[in-house]
Amino acid sequence: MKKLLLVLILLPQILVAEDSPQSRWGFMGHQRINRLAIFTLPPEMISFYKKNIRFIVEHSVAPDQRRYAVVGEAPKHFIDLDNYGDSASYKLPFYWKDAVEKFSEDSLMKHGIVPWHIQSMKFQLTKAFQEKDAYRILKISAEMGHYIADANVPLHTSSNYNGQKTNQLGIHAFWESRLVELFSGNYNFFVGQAEYLPKPTLRIWENLRKANACLDSVLVFEQTLNENSNPNLKYAIIERNGQNVKDFSEDYARKYHSMLSNQVERQMCSAIKMIGDFWLTSWIDAGQPDLKEMINWKISEKQAKEDTQAWTDWLENNVPARAEN
Ligand SMILES: [Zn+2]
Repeated sequence: MKKLLLVLILLPQILVAEDSPQSRWGFMGHQRINRLAIFTLPPEMISFYKKNIRFIVEHSVAPDQRRYAVVGEAPKHFIDLDNYGDSASYKLPFYWKDAVEKFSEDSLMKHGIVPWHIQSMKFQLTKAFQEKDAYRILKISAEMGHYIADANVPLHTSSNYNGQKTNQLGIHAFWESRLVELFSGNYNFFVGQAEYLPKPTLRIWENLRKANACLDSVLVFEQTLNENSNPNLKYAIIERNGQNVKDFSEDYARKYHSMLSNQVERQMCSAIKMIGDFWLTSWIDAGQPDLKEMINWKISEKQAKEDTQAWTDWLENNVPARAEN
């Protein structure tokens, strides 16, 4: 009971803060991306999603909350493409079964499985639409949004995910949390209408390739900036969630952000569009069920309890397993 109370007290603060130093894309990035994906949807879908916007936004961070508590969760958020040699994103098997045959499940889990996991979520979402199961539609949509957003982050496609191999520790949160927190307020997130994907798998690999192609700039620009900057001005003490923490200074971040010339904005837009496309495609593949019938759906006591439990576990286990990825 005490635990439940703690969660209920802390929950609104966590949601308002929209950020955590340990979150991917930051909480703010994931929440914003999921929220904006809703507005790409056609009239037949948008009312249902808009009515449940809070659920879609809140659950956008659920996979990060449980990644340290649930065995097998962490690899769903990334793929180390460099582990598979040159042009890996062209050569890796499209389907999980073929990938397991070629590399073994153990090895795949070690180097990340995000492309195959998105594929499996697409299958699950189509099924939830067919069954007209409102809770599962929303939960899978929200969580699929998370994994898709992760797949569009350059540093989620490399074993050098936090600059640890190039002496750039901290670059992960710098790119996807600090820059987003400082500059995304001015981004143009207009991505147009969601479109049907005849071959969703192709799209997963296309976006992964695009994210991976950004990796060089992400690393090299920061190295160059670091070499040409006064080390005393690189970091600053800033206030986050009521605490004073050391982070990259605003000036350093601004210079890096301008060298990247809209890269963070482009990747956020890619994620938003891809999520909208995957939600729409799942709904069409399920035979376009009438979502108006579910418009008055309310979360059951059991489902709400499950959700609360996830927050409790997160609060108690909020320590990184594979930091910053
Ligand atoms: Zn993640």
